[in-house]
Amino acid sequence: MKYLLVLLVLWVAFAIWRNGRRREEVERAKRHQQQQPGGALPEPQAMIRCAHCGLHLPAADALPGKDGKVYCSAAHRQADQ
Ligand SMILES: [Zn+2]
Repeated sequence: MKYLLVLLVLWVAFAIWRNGRRREEVERAKRHQQQQPGGALPEPQAMIRCAHCGLHLPAADALPGKDGKVYCSAAHRQADQ
């Protein structure tokens, strides 16, 4: 009976310790999220519409044409001239 009581006390102590650790982890995760809003999401890119086919593509991949128009590919730039 004595051993059962010791076991019970140990189990309760372990349960309390585990509960405290979990709360600590949750708080740490919350703090981490507040420090980095959006997490590891990539930077948003400006999208441009191809003047020939209407395809939307990142501005960095667009090809400039005449009159400030932009195209998705050299073939479309040539086709529109
Ligand atoms: Zn196009």
